[in-house]
Amino acid sequence: MSEKIKAGLEIHQQLDSHKLFCDCPSVLRNDEPDFEVSRKLHAVAGEAGAVDIAVKYEAEKDREFIYQGYDTTCLIELDEAPPYLINQEALEIGLHVALLLNCEIIPITQIMRKTVIDGSNTSGFQRTVLIARNGQIETSFGKVRIENISLEEDAARIVGEKNGKKIFRLDRLGIPLIEIGTAPDIKSAEEAKQVALHIGDVLRSCRVKRGIGTIRQDVNVSIEGHPRVEIKGFQDVKMFVPVIEKEIKRQKKNIQSKKDLKSEVRNALPNGETEFLRPVPGASRMYPETDLPLLKISRKIVDEAKKTLPELRTEIRKKLKKKGLNEEQIKILLKHDKLFEFENLLKIINEPKFIYQILVEIPKEVIRHEGKGEISADIIEGIAEAVLKNRINRADVKHVMTEIVRGKSFEDAIKIKKIDLGEIEAEISKIVKEKPGLSIGAYMGLIMSKFKGKVSGSEANAILRKLIK
Ligand SMILES: [Zn+2]
Repeated sequence: MSEKIKAGLEIHQQLDSHKLFCDCPSVLRNDEPDFEVSRKLHAVAGEAGAVDIAVKYEAEKDREFIYQGYDTTCLIELDEAPPYLINQEALEIGLHVALLLNCEIIPITQIMRKTVIDGSNTSGFQRTVLIARNGQIETSFGKVRIENISLEEDAARIVGEKNGKKIFRLDRLGIPLIEIGTAPDIKSAEEAKQVALHIGDVLRSCRVKRGIGTIRQDVNVSIEGHPRVEIKGFQDVKMFVPVIEKEIKRQKKNIQSKKDLKSEVRNALPNGETEFLRPVPGASRMYPETDLPLLKISRKIVDEAKKTLPELRTEIRKKLKKKGLNEEQIKILLKHDKLFEFENLLKIINEPKFIYQILVEIPKEVIRHEGKGEISADIIEGIAEAVLKNRINRADVKHVMTEIVRGKSFEDAIKIKKIDLGEIEAEISKIVKEKPGLSIGAYMGLIMSKFKGKVSGSEANAILRKLIK
């Protein structure tokens, strides 16, 4: 499969932040809507005066749409009020992605309206703003340029149809999306997959939404002599290779049969096939957003974003592995977003395995055993400090956490009555006398259960060995 192709990716990913041009939360609702409104949309001419071919295609259908709203949507989603200034948090996340993809940030940029009249935008357009360009990433096949990075509003989502009218839900409309477009530098299906994996790694390192429907990946692909075809709807990176390979075959057949070759948008199906969706939209669908000022991304904003730039997850994995954590432990830290706390605790006691225990394992054990409770990051930090200052032993951590879950304050919980070592020695010697001839392990079991965290394992072990000798 060394067919020469020309391909580029376009990736849309929802950011984990409130909406892009209003303060509504980015939450999807599955309960009954609070209200419904009905609207009819029609095609408008773009900046160049021409009605875009894709827009016309939808407009010819001349349809009415129903929109469902909630208390978590406002007049801006309904296009009844002007947009607020761009969400600064979303902008920062966008800058993180752009910097990690080695892009140049655009210092002054115009927010644009992109005509959309399939009904998924109440206004008939989607706001989009180019924030960065000219980046690049490396694959094992060579360099792939990142052409543009934009912030966009997500569209309303279609939830059904009533009397031939499409029903859209406004909850998704306006959720910040980052759009990443590569140059058509990709030369094979395998390389397309590598690029998608790399960009996916960058995205997951930043504050983005997780789960099905939060990322959309499109591929533009053509072989020599065939116009560009856009394939939408890749749910899984695994689908890249089979879908692209099948599309190459389809294009070859088109050329051989001297078909009327046209540029089109196709949908990726789960079986690796594709189907026609619509014509490719032209450039005439963009015009400036007059309700908003130019977006200035100052040096200061970029410097701030550099300061808070997250590390790539692949780098973090390598680092944690070096520190002695295994794959499973690394996976759990990443999955539960515990990295920040982990790094913080390492600053107190630089022992990754012990820190992993007091951050993940012991709290989990205690909570499961008690059937309730939680142990906050502050408490865990306090416990690490208490260990460092010898206020408690390492072996006491579980006991302290248990007391806290049972309702004791942190200060009370760490006031462990330390039995003096002479007393412990006397007790241990009593145990040895009562049950002679047991193994060290068996004695340790008896001792630890008797003192329940009031003595550390290493202390008890030292005393025991001395006595047995
Ligand atoms: Zn809103």
